[in-house]
Amino acid sequence: MKVVYCDHCADISIKSRFENDACTSCGRDARVVPHTRPWQYFASTAILLTATAVLILGPTADWTVRVAIFGSAFAVALLLSVWSITTMRSRILQRARAANPPGAKP
Ligand SMILES: [Zn+2]
Repeated sequence: MKVVYCDHCADISIKSRFENDACTSCGRDARVVPHTRPWQYFASTAILLTATAVLILGPTADWTVRVAIFGSAFAVALLLSVWSITTMRSRILQRARAANPPGAKP
């Protein structure tokens, strides 16, 4: 995954490694900006891994309990990953706009 910043839109696009660096909104050239994954990302991965481990190794035979465990873990993980993207996005935007305020001519 990579994050590109478009000076034209003053916005970021989140892209996969194999896509080009163009802005998803306007299609102009955008530049890759460094990003760090927030704790929410790791928390959501950890929750999913834990839930999977519990399902595989857990003594609970009742499938409704298993479905409930996995369902709630999945919901929390999804929430955390949405949160992590929001956090990452605002962090990058803040940094990019501070370095290059919209409307400023280079
Ligand atoms: Zn753009």
